[in-house]
Amino acid sequence: MPGTSDTSVESQKPIVVASNRLPFTFQRTSKGLERRPSPGGLVSALEPVLRKRGGTWIGWPGTDVREGEQLSTRGEAYRICPVLLSETEIARYYHGFSNRTLWPMLHSMPVRARFDTREWESYQRVNERFGAVTAEEATDAGLVWVQDYHLMLAPSRIRKELPDARLAFFMHIPFPPHDVFRVLPWDKELLRGLLACDLIGFHVRSYAQNFLDCVERSLGARVDRDAQLVEYGDLTTRVGAFPLGIEFSLFESLAVGAPKKRESDQKIVLGVDRLDYTKGIPERILAFQRLLERYPEYREKVTLLQIAVPSRSQVAEYRKLKSEIDELVGNVNGRFATAYWSPIQYLYRSFSQRQLAAIYRDADVALVTPLRDGMNLVAKEYVACQVDDPGVLILSSLAGAADTMREALLVNPVDIDGTAEALHRALTMEEEVRRSRLAALRRRERRDNVDAWVESFLQRAVGAPATLTPFTDEDFAAWLSEFIGQYRLALFLDYDGTLCSLQDHPSQARLSKRVRESLGACAERDDTDISVISGRSLQDVRSMVGLEQLSYAGNHGLEIAGPGMADFVHEDLAHYRERAEEIAGDLEEIALGGAWIEAKGPTLTYHYRAVPENGRRALIERAHEIINQAGYQARDAHCAVEAIPPIGWDKGRAVLHVLRTRYGASWSEAVRVVYVGDDQTDEDAFRFLAGLAMTFRVGSADTHTAASRRLPDVEAVRALLRWLARRRPKTR
Ligand code: UDP
Repeated sequence: MPGTSDTSVESQKPIVVASNRLPFTFQRTSKGLERRPSPGGLVSALEPVLRKRGGTWIGWPGTDVREGEQLSTRGEAYRICPVLLSETEIARYYHGFSNRTLWPMLHSMPVRARFDTREWESYQRVNERFGAVTAEEATDAGLVWVQDYHLMLAPSRIRKELPDARLAFFMHIPFPPHDVFRVLPWDKELLRGLLACDLIGFHVRSYAQNFLDCVERSLGARVDRDAQLVEYGDLTTRVGAFPLGIEFSLFESLAVGAPKKRESDQKIVLGVDRLDYTKGIPERILAFQRLLERYPEYREKVTLLQIAVPSRSQVAEYRKLKSEIDELVGNVNGRFATAYWSPIQYLYRSFSQRQLAAIYRDADVALVTPLRDGMNLVAKEYVACQVDDPGVLILSSLAGAADTMREALLVNPVDIDGTAEALHRALTMEEEVRRSRLAALRRRERRDNVDAWVESFLQRAVGAPATLTPFTDEDFAAWLSEFIGQYRLALFLDYDGTLCSLQDHPSQARLSKRVRESLGACAERDDTDISVISGRSLQDVRSMVGLEQLSYAGNHGLEIAGPGMADFVHEDLAHYRERAEEIAGDLEEIALGGAWIEAKGPTLTYHYRAVPENGRRALIERAHEIINQAGYQARDAHCAVEAIPPIGWDKGRAVLHVLRTRYGASWSEAVRVVYVGDDQTDEDAFRFLAGLAMTFRVGSADTHTAASRRLPDVEAVRALLRWLARRRPKTR
């Protein structure tokens, strides 16, 4: 990954944070838009860093801003850069794709997800905008740090503008297993968006492992699980677990300072959640009901105090959940309440941190039982506020917090009986045991607080860039040994960008000695047939490679020659030779600033590598126009536009021609096919061969590919050739 390794310099430079929300939200009042700080540990942890180093916070101000309305962003020691969203975008990008698609999917609840193409398009557009604004703000930043699932595509947009930026992402919610994630119709795009980062952080190791599985299995990226690295094309991304902490001392001091509670011998079991289906509130009420059924001695002695903070009430599903909870609370209270006691006290509103601290302190048991939760901060805040009589934390094993908070009583939240038994255990636990469990929990949360979290993440984010070890034989053996097995191998290789790196002029792109040796060694094997398939003319590519025993396809497969095959020339070729000459004449008008035209018979290429970057756009557009007007197809290649005759022939067809001619109609039973290419024209072959072959795309990762795997560069192709040359001979 590009970037300086002088991390001490990086760590002094400004930092740019992009998150869906700004560190405060605006609300419309009779006086206009009023600014309110967003509470929460993340904001208070990041703000000091931004204040110290300077930088920008980019985000949505939290309401639809009308034309002409001013957002006050004064008084900050760092820049605030609002990204405005229209009402439609709020509905589609935010309430739609973010909260109705990604939220349930990433919480492993695909049946709750809905998949709407218009919402996906809006998510793409908003991410594009976030990315563009962030890149503009970040030209001199030491680090760009993108937050959370709303912005999974923004990193690739930022990388496009700032190839050398240090770019990091933190996912604040879970990341699901591959089998769940791949249900998303846009799974690959989302993964690719993230892989533009140098560092991707998750709360716990299992989410990071799920992510590694996904990129390996869905994108064909190379993954080093021990080092937690991903190599995708020419980018290497580090992945890691950074469990989020809380502002421990703040909660502790709020709890110490809060007014003392009213004396009562009632015990309190506490639940605090946003009203969300991931939080398991109905299951919790049922578990409390089970406790009262099984252990009548708790009646009139214990109360469940459930705080449910209103959330996403625009979404019908959340309104339905609220009715369900209302009904359940009514049922349990109706069944068990007496004149002086209600089993469940249900508060549907939000509380300040100060109020919460007192409620946490006075609760005898915290019942934190989400069905799935990225981390869960309530569990940590409860522990921080236990400054008097030691309470007991019952924690869902399905919350990220359970990874570290091992001294809690862990339960499976869908196991109603098990949770009721844990409640009984908590309510009867001796003080000594409660105290020692709590002491261990408090020690850890005090140490691993939110400041420690920010520091460890930043340290890793600006640390030395990650690189994967060069390809080893094991990598290729894992991908190809079983696939090739005892079969004959038909190996197809592109030339420029695959067998040799791209040069300023095609005549300079020569095979290195090492690649030639490995290629030659492969070609020596009598169970391997190699075809080099190129956009160059047949004669040109053959002379560049110069190995007689190989087959060659020139002009993107319009002319093919090789051992065991009659020479092939597409029947329309002669006709298109003339047309190509005419187009070459027309393109002369834009042979400016170092751009030039390579005539290759029926096809031609307009090269603009020598043109300065700011002068290219108009030339490329005009080249497309001229080529398309002449009835040819214009295809973008590396610093070049290819002009290809409109005869429904491409590298995919050419591969099929070679396979059928050499091995007959049932070629798929006779050989195993491997194809390696680097460019848009190779995508035709990747698509044609999907499911039939092992395909590799070489080079940068910023483009979509239909290939099964990626290789970073020509050196990796050479390693592949070397492995293929040395693979164990067939033992039929
Ligand atoms: N919270 C709050 N007021 C309330 C209830 C909760 O400020 O009335 C805060 C709570 O202190 C905690 C956060 O909301 O910091 C909930 O975080 P958690 O990770 O538990 O769940 P999330 O809502 O992020 O899914």
